[in-house]
Amino acid sequence: MEDYEFDLAIIGAGPGGYVAAIRAAQLGAKVALIEKDRVGGTCLNRGCIPTKAVLQTVEVHRIIERAPAWGVKAELKGIELANVRRFRDETVRRMVKGVETLLKGHKVTLYRGLGAFLDLHTLRVTGEEGETTLRAKRFIIATGSEPARPPIPGLDLPGVVDSDEIMGLESVPATLVIVGAGVIGMELATVFNGLGSQVTVLEMLPRILPPADGPIATRFLGLAKRQGIKVMTSVRVESIEPEGEKLKVNYTHIGKEAPSTCAIADKVLIAVGRRPYTAGLNLEDIGVKTERGAIIVDEALCTSVPHIYAIGDCIGKAMLAHKASYEGEIAAENALGKSRRVDYTALPYCIYTHPEIAGVGLTEEAAKESGVDYGTATFPFTANARAWAIGYAEGLVRLIYEKGSRKLLGAHVMGPWAGELIGELALAVRLGLKTDEIAETMHPHPSLSEAVMEAAKAASYGEAIHYRRLKR
Ligand code: FAD
Ligand code: NAD
Repeated sequence: MEDYEFDLAIIGAGPGGYVAAIRAAQLGAKVALIEKDRVGGTCLNRGCIPTKAVLQTVEVHRIIERAPAWGVKAELKGIELANVRRFRDETVRRMVKGVETLLKGHKVTLYRGLGAFLDLHTLRVTGEEGETTLRAKRFIIATGSEPARPPIPGLDLPGVVDSDEIMGLESVPATLVIVGAGVIGMELATVFNGLGSQVTVLEMLPRILPPADGPIATRFLGLAKRQGIKVMTSVRVESIEPEGEKLKVNYTHIGKEAPSTCAIADKVLIAVGRRPYTAGLNLEDIGVKTERGAIIVDEALCTSVPHIYAIGDCIGKAMLAHKASYEGEIAAENALGKSRRVDYTALPYCIYTHPEIAGVGLTEEAAKESGVDYGTATFPFTANARAWAIGYAEGLVRLIYEKGSRKLLGAHVMGPWAGELIGELALAVRLGLKTDEIAETMHPHPSLSEAVMEAAKAASYGEAIHYRRLKR
């Protein structure tokens, strides 16, 4: 009989690790959770939640600007950054406290400190109160990711920040250059544009927002420019240098003969992706294999060592909080004797720009690449009554379906509350529903969700009810 203190030890208490801990405890396991920082990980402390709290400030500002049009007398007197930070920090504090309470309620033993493998079943935890060791039968690694740092000269200059650091700024920069028009780049462009910064985004690819459906990303580019966000695509940042009190970002144009240019800004945000974080775990010593920094796992989320699992950002691929949590549940169950496999067919995403962009399943590019005979159907929010009633009749629902069977392959929404609308479509993709099944389902009126039903009617019947000019 081995002397294990715990059935399962989980390293990292982000949305992957803490969900795994709760699920394992629900299944009756004795669980240890090791966290070197605050519980909640990147998502709660530096990512999803604080950025969305600040986006709410921007949204309220936008609403007050437009209030007279809705018949409300309101005077906009500006933004008080100290209060913005207070609201953001209070939101985060509540969530962190909530997770701590849940962990306590499930009798998960929380170790505060840095975890490192001493051997296949022993972890050393180094915290403020010194060092301790613990032994567990099985492990889940959920150590997350960190911002990637491209080899651009000048990256270490003061004022060049990453997404972790920008949330701690004491003031709103008058001018901000963002390198990378991915999810972080465009969300933070929305935040800082809304807070009053003049924002320029420099992207090396010919398109923005890599995970989004191409036609939707192109439409969003137009809307972003209308909001005053300057976006340059197909440009390569060569260097950053001081320019008096400011920073000078030198860039060249990719694929065309044009002189190199520069953008001057108070701050530069580097948002060119994130890389898995596994520093100090001693993975090599215990035989856990990695590839370009990401821990290699199979469909059961098992690593190259059979009793060690890995989940979330540290296994690479799509770095999303809900994916980490989904994997956390599966890894916990598998570590305790079940045999679930991951299935990413219906992995949704939401990009919290203005308007929001959300999607699930195949993009049109992926459908084309797969060789499937597909059709597309759209329905614009300009033809949706609720969108007009709330004053945001911008964007569209776009469905991608298999011709013939009309099985829904992918769905993409740009518009108000897109992230809330995508849940129904994620279920439809997961269950392999036909567009007819959505088209024939009553949706409440007036609601934004009617746009989903109408797009499904366009796919199934060739025509929506409230929109005639079809683009298929
Ligand atoms: P993490 O959340 O990174 O948690 C890992 C934890 O492990 C950390 O707390 C870390 O301190 C701890 N740790 C690491 N090594 C050790 C060790 N050796 N010992 C002890 N503890 C250790 N995703 C979304 O789905 N929606 C969003 O809106 C969204 N917004 C984002 C905004 C920003 C600015 C950023 C940066 C990210 C955003 N993400 C969003 C991505 C999301 O935050 C991550 O995908 C998610 O946090 C990954 O969860 P995780 O549990 O794998 O890792
Ligand atoms: P990303 O991969 O989404 O985008 C990085 C962008 O930077 C890409 O468009 C890439 O072409 C560009 N780029 C790379 N090197 C460049 C260079 N040298 N010069 C100019 N452009 C360059 O990465 P991100 O935006 O940093 O986000 C990291 C992760 O965090 C993503 O995986 C994302 O899923 C996650 N995240 C999710 C959300 C959300 O779900 N709402 C929000 C924020 C972050």
